[in-house]
Amino acid sequence: MQPFNLSFSNIKVAFKHMSDAELKKAKFIFSIFKFPLLVKFGPSISTFFLKIGLPIKGLIKNTVFWQFCGGETINECDETVKTLAKNGVGTILDYSVEGHDKESDFDNNLAEIKNTILKATGKAEYPFCVFKPTGIARVALLEKLDAGQKLDSEELHEYYTLKKRFDVLGAAAAEHKMRLFVDAEWSWIQNPVDDIVNEMMAKYNNGHAVIYTTVQLYRKGRLELMKKWINEAREKKYTLGFKLVRGAYMEKEAERASKMGYASPIQDSKADSDRDFDQALKLCIENRDIVSVCAGTHNEESSLYLAKMMHEAGIENNDPRFWFAQLFGMSDTISFNLAAQGYNVVKYLPYGPIKAVMPYLGRRAQENSSMAGQMGRELSLLTQELIRRKKEKI
Ligand SMILES: Cc1cc2nc3c(=O)[nH]c(=O)nc-3n(C[C@H](O)[C@H](O)[C@H](O)COP(=O)(O)OP(=O)(O)OC[C@H]3O[C@@H](n4cnc5c(N)ncnc54)[C@H](O)[C@@H]3O)c2cc1C
Repeated sequence: MQPFNLSFSNIKVAFKHMSDAELKKAKFIFSIFKFPLLVKFGPSISTFFLKIGLPIKGLIKNTVFWQFCGGETINECDETVKTLAKNGVGTILDYSVEGHDKESDFDNNLAEIKNTILKATGKAEYPFCVFKPTGIARVALLEKLDAGQKLDSEELHEYYTLKKRFDVLGAAAAEHKMRLFVDAEWSWIQNPVDDIVNEMMAKYNNGHAVIYTTVQLYRKGRLELMKKWINEAREKKYTLGFKLVRGAYMEKEAERASKMGYASPIQDSKADSDRDFDQALKLCIENRDIVSVCAGTHNEESSLYLAKMMHEAGIENNDPRFWFAQLFGMSDTISFNLAAQGYNVVKYLPYGPIKAVMPYLGRRAQENSSMAGQMGRELSLLTQELIRRKKEKI
């Protein structure tokens, strides 16, 4: 067996796609996340300013938006997609509008997500598409379903329509031979989403994964659920697609649990989330005859852990059942070093009107404001690369 020698320490490989000016701009953006008040109130103040028509769009577009998004429209993303592809990294076009609750909004979003599938069809640079359930379904209805409450006839009709929207996307993905992630959001709407997505997997994942459900391992009990789904898929003979993530809504989960007086569904510690995430990866390796997996993480240890398990099991780096995914603008050391060794790597590339992607940008700012975690490393890596380039030029 060849020795396992993957490492994420090569910053030259990681930032090859960025010019000096781009590196400096990225460094500036990550450095402003050090100001807690700006991170906390920046997104809502910016949204308000945009709403009342203050001319701050250019400022946002040239800073945080530029760092984390591909453009305001699909076509504006083209250049970024090309740059990623040139370096072996695929793109997932992520139409990132949030906070809708009108049927007409859902229909518009559905049409736009279908456009991402059509844009991606037949092109190697787009290995996956994605959508968020709340982009096509009303939160309050999902919440009611999750709580097991009875729906009235109007709501039943709405439920039928929302299921149809999920199916339209599943059918389009299957028809165009595209893999489709369904993102996970809050625990209080996840049960009905899981039910619908499991139905879609049973319907469309014949022999290979088209539909990928998302499992948030920062929630307690998800490993057991995965095992149950694996047993069901074995019995009914279909393939499972899992996108594994730790989870992005910790504060909201804690807030709601304490407000409503129920036990938080979130793990008791970060170590517990880490343990379940890595065990979930192992479970996928063990069941790879019927499971495809994407590790959606910026955690170096977890990414290395999956790569190492693949190596030990004799799985090729580019085996189509195994994927690594990061968000655009983050963890380039992981993405580009994996890609350089032939692993399957994709990045979410969010796009959409600036006003509509503000919640997404707010979450990225929050994540990157902690200097302690993996995310805090971005600033130091960018600084290291600028110093390395300076020395190279001397
Ligand atoms: C490609 C991709 C797709 C994603 N899709 C989704 C999605 O569909 N749904 C979603 O919710 N998120 C999604 N995320 C975001 C993801 O859930 C994480 O928020 C983010 O990636 C940070 O976690 P990490 O694995 O990168 O690693 P780390 O930085 O090592 O872990 C940070 C995470 O650990 C968990 N954590 C931190 N402190 C504690 C604590 N005290 N107790 C318990 N857990 C703790 C939290 O989940 C936190 O986000 C996605 C991320 C990527 C890269």
